This record gives sequence, C-alpha cells and structure tokens, in this order.
Amino acid sequence: MVSRVIPVDTFDLVIFGGTGDLARRKILPGLFRRFIAGQMTGESRVIGAARSELDDAGYRDLVCEAIAEFGGAEKDSGRLEEFLARLHYVPIDATGEGGWSDLRDLMRDGVVRAFYFSVAPSLFGALAERLHSNDVAGPDARIVVEKPFGRDLGGARELNATLASHFDERQIYRIDHYLGKETVQNLMAIRFGNVLFEPLWNSHYVDHIQITVAETVGVGGRGSYYDKSGAMRDMVQNHLMQLLCLIAMEPPSQFEADAVRDEKLKVIRALQPVEPHQIVRGQYDAAAGAASYREDAENPRSFTESFVALKLGISNLRWAGVPFYLRTGKKLKARSSEIAVVFKDLPHSMFEGDEKRHRNILSIRLQPNEGIDLQVTIKEPGPGGMRLVDVPLDMTFADALGDEAEAPDAYERLIMDVIRGNQTLFMRGDEVEAAWRWTDPIIEGWEARSDVPKLYEQGSSGPEDAQMLIHRDGRRWRDIRG
Ligand code: NAD
Repeated sequence: MVSRVIPVDTFDLVIFGGTGDLARRKILPGLFRRFIAGQMTGESRVIGAARSELDDAGYRDLVCEAIAEFGGAEKDSGRLEEFLARLHYVPIDATGEGGWSDLRDLMRDGVVRAFYFSVAPSLFGALAERLHSNDVAGPDARIVVEKPFGRDLGGARELNATLASHFDERQIYRIDHYLGKETVQNLMAIRFGNVLFEPLWNSHYVDHIQITVAETVGVGGRGSYYDKSGAMRDMVQNHLMQLLCLIAMEPPSQFEADAVRDEKLKVIRALQPVEPHQIVRGQYDAAAGAASYREDAENPRSFTESFVALKLGISNLRWAGVPFYLRTGKKLKARSSEIAVVFKDLPHSMFEGDEKRHRNILSIRLQPNEGIDLQVTIKEPGPGGMRLVDVPLDMTFADALGDEAEAPDAYERLIMDVIRGNQTLFMRGDEVEAAWRWTDPIIEGWEARSDVPKLYEQGSSGPEDAQMLIHRDGRRWRDIRG
C-alpha cells in the first residue's frame, strides 16, 4: 500500500528560531520529508529567521548539516539540493527593529503565510507585536506557538491576551506535538469509528484508565531550564492532559476543530482537585557512573520533580467513580508511552476452578511500535478441561498496514495542518488556561509546604510511593516495556 498524500496550498513558512535545536532536529527535517512526499508543492518556501548573521547560502549549509544528522532515510533521496533552493534566511532580532522590512519585502501575496515561533517563550509577545506593527503577517496569516504556553494560569492568560491583541484565535496554532502522533488520532478513530468500544466506554464497564509516558533519558543539557519547570509543568499540564481529554471526552458532533476542542475543555473543567495523598513526586538518584537529577540540574538543593504519578477523578456521568492514574518520568526503565483502558471483571465466572482474574485491557501504544492491542481471554489450547488464558489481539501498525503505517512525524503532520488551516489538533486558548487552573493549586501546594520529591533508582519504574498510590486501591501499574 502506498501512503496517500494530500497536496496543500503554496506557502511561505517563516521559522523564527530557524537555527535552533527544535528547528534543526524536527521542523526542517520534517519539512524535507514532506517535500519528498510531494506535499510541499508549487513554489512553497521556508524562511529561517534568527539572530545569527547568515545569508541564504549560510542557512542552506546549516540546514544541509541538520538533515545529514536528523534527516533519516530521506537524506539519501538525491533531492536535497532541490529542497535547499526553497530556503531563505533573514537575520532578525525579535526584540529589535532590524530585519523586519527585509522580511516584509520577502513575503508574497496570494500564498499562505505561516510564522513558527520556535524561540524562547519570553519572545512570543515581542514577535507577535512586531509581525503586526511591521505589517508582515496580514489578516490570514497563521502563527504557530511552541510550548511551554505560560508557566501558570497568570502567565498563560497574559500570553493569550498579547497574542489576541494582534491575532484572531483562528490564526493561533498552539502546538502540542503529542496531538500529532498517529496513534493519538487513532484513538479517536477507534472510539468513534467502531460500534464495539463506545458503548463500553464508561463507568459501567471501565475499572480504571492508566496513562504512562516514560523516558529513559535524564534532563541532560536542558537541566537548568527543566529545573524551573519539572514534570508537572513540562509533561502533565500539556501532553498527559491532552491524552486524558481525548480518552475521556464525549463524542464531538463532528471531527472539526471547535467541536473537538469544546469537548476536551469540558473534560478539563470536570477534573476533580487532586489531594496531596493522590500524587507522588520523584527525583532520580545518582547511579553507578550516572549523575543524579540534582547534579544534572546543577542545583544541589533542587526540589523539582523529574517524575510524577497521580490519581484523578472526573466529575461527570460517564466517569463518576472511575480513577485515572497518570505517570510520567525521566530515567525510567524503558522509553514507553501507553494509554491502557482496563475493563471491569466479569460479575460471574462460569468456569469452575478458574481463580485468576481475567481482564480485557485495551492498550494504545504511542511509542515505541505505535499500535493497539486488546487483551482477551480464551481457552488455553490442548486437552485437560477449560483453562483460560489471556492473549493480546495485537495490531502493530507497521505489521498491519505496511508502508501505510509510515506516517509522517508529529511535527510534519501538524505543520501541514497549519498550512491547511485545520486547528483540530491544536490547543485553544481557553483549554490551556483551564489546564493551568487545575495544575496551579497542585504546584502551589508543593511550594507552600516545601514538598521534597522521593528519590528513585535510575532504570526503575519510579519511587516506591508511586506503586503504593495504585496498590492501595487494589490495582497495579502496567509494566513499563520498551
Ligand atoms: P534553541 O535555544 O536551540 O534555539 C533558539 C532559537 O531562537 C535560535 O535560532 C536563536 O537564534 C533564536 N533566538 C534567540 N533569541 C532571539 C532573538 N532575540 N530574536 C530572534 N531569534 C532569537 O531553542 P530550541 O530548543 O530550538 O527551542 C525553541 C522553542 O521550542 C522553545 O520555546 C522551546 O521551549 C520549544 N521546544 C523545544 C523542544 C526541543 O526539543 N528543542 C521541544 C519542545 C518545545
């Protein structure tokens, strides 16, 4: 099977911070892959804009190196020169006045104009203002805003207000790359495209839901940035919250940006406050030859968490009484992201002597090996009576769909959605604020009582207390498997 590529309109995409890490690792290699796939049609161009004093040729060299390093198999496609010819560069300081008229002169009428803010969040406001005051953007332009979107409700509100004074909400694309992942969208296809699951997707049949995003890496070179943020701000408020919304939301009336985002917002608004005993924070300890979190963060007195596990409830008819267990952390035993819907036990087993608890579990794997499996109970093959065994009905996309499963990376997909003008997979301003409104009291509580994170062993599943969090409810975490 060959992937279907839907062409997009001709565009000028300006990447502010076009020489930075995110641009080099994700955005530019992603655009190159879309170019090869035939999606960067017409005379579309990419314009790097950053503080470095480069010209077009210098920028093309930089992008060439980035693609050699991060471009995957496509770097050998023989089409790099063609792609590089579409690149331009304008030196610009987001906080200064130089360079803006050059950028304005370069922009063309009659094509989609998009501006990717791949710079520190402290510059988002300055960029929005200058795009507007220098008349670079135009009424139909789109801006793409990276995370983090504020570090609390006050900051997010301020940023929303600044952006709103220059752009309409329909022009603002707040990116959360988790929403661009193939499996995350598949989650909606599975829930709302099949008759099988939706009737069971409620407190009558679901025992609990687990969401795990586990990383093996530490904070490494991002230590000082991360130390001001922590797992709650860096992962839970955005990525895990978005996954939770898609799992828990009511069916939107249509697959359309505001219909989907309205339902996600209702979930966030229905989240119960989290009590201190429902949440565990952790920090990775030193290991043989490996630095501790505090050493990585270069802050010997840091109380920032590199791990968090929590139990939360949703106050609505569908989910009353169903716990959601979320956890995320660094330096854990495997790199693995999974959503598991654990269904309730059968109320009665007719199979005599079958003492084991058999459960249907729908597991949605985001990484590695994106796919879905459903644990079902069957008869163990062979003679000797009715012994039951749990087996997975596995659908690893790469096996089931072949080439078709080679979906674009999340960033590529989301950038193409920006060009198409499709905001479905981007966060709306009120969603982000609602997520902070729920997160802020938790973080404020930690700060008020100088909460000290529990140390955990590198390569483990997190602190012992995180096990207790779920064990005391008579449940257990799923194994973190790579
Ligand atoms: P970076 O420090 O590597 O790059 C920053 C870029 O901004 C550089 O191109 C630099 O020249 C430019 N810049 C700095 N000051 C400027 C100014 N005054 N005017 C114009 N340009 C200026 O940062 P990064 O890691 O690429 O991150 C960029 C954004 O993406 C940040 O908001 C970050 O939080 C977000 N983000 C990054 C990653 C990642 O993996 N790197 C992941 C998620 C989100």
